[in-house]
Amino acid sequence: MLRVTIICADLGKLPIPALEYLVLYLNRLQSDVEFQIAPAFNDNLFMDELAPDRVINWDEFESKIADFVKWVNVTTQDLEIGYELQHTELGSIAIISLSSLNTNWYSVYQPDVSTYFLGKWETHMAPPSILESIITLIISEGIYRLIGLDATRMAHITTRGCPGDFNMSLIDTRYKTLVGSLCKDCLSQLEEAIGVEHANLWNKLLKKRWIGTLDDPYSPASHVSKLGYNLFVTKGLAPTPQEKVVAFLKDEGSKQIIQIFGAVLVALVLVWLGLG
Ligand SMILES: [Zn+2]
Repeated sequence: MLRVTIICADLGKLPIPALEYLVLYLNRLQSDVEFQIAPAFNDNLFMDELAPDRVINWDEFESKIADFVKWVNVTTQDLEIGYELQHTELGSIAIISLSSLNTNWYSVYQPDVSTYFLGKWETHMAPPSILESIITLIISEGIYRLIGLDATRMAHITTRGCPGDFNMSLIDTRYKTLVGSLCKDCLSQLEEAIGVEHANLWNKLLKKRWIGTLDDPYSPASHVSKLGYNLFVTKGLAPTPQEKVVAFLKDEGSKQIIQIFGAVLVALVLVWLGLG
């Protein structure tokens, strides 16, 4: 089985547990790729360069990324030795950041690491929310790794709402999330790699119906809401004050409280009028 290890750079106000939970939930839905979260790393200068709103020069990025991947592997092994744990292969690495590249590329795919630069994401690009967009990128990452080195051939200049969309600007990537479906060309490449049945499963993952609704307390959507991100209201990294009010009003528990409060208010008015 392939493994993809996710490393979150500083993601500002985005609740990382909500993102990590959705990533790990993907392991319940398919068995072709095991997604895992890297242990927390402290004090790495390269990670500092991927902080929100930082702009990193392409030449600098290219000269440092290989050493960073080596550092991640060595540091993980040191932790395993320190805690007397068995060795775990990291597989390929996917780094999610809110930094930008000076070339304006929002993702860089290399043989053992992919880096996502979402610093240019703005709330006006929603829908979808930034969290949904990141999950789509991670599902797409799984698909690229399953196809292997040929994944670079997957890219098409036209936009089809498919993980293979080349997308010259970050704003056009919204269709990958909103449409969420492999085009015929890309689906046939994935079918060649893992068979028709498994390829169809990945196509279903992209549609994200598995996220469910807030009516179901056991759905991923409900759990993510409890972890601080309402997928149906919040657009950006964290809810705005207005989004918090809308989320409160949509919540079933809150609706009951508002009804009780309304009934008490009516009773008080009736008493005040001498009609109670
Ligand atoms: Zn495609």
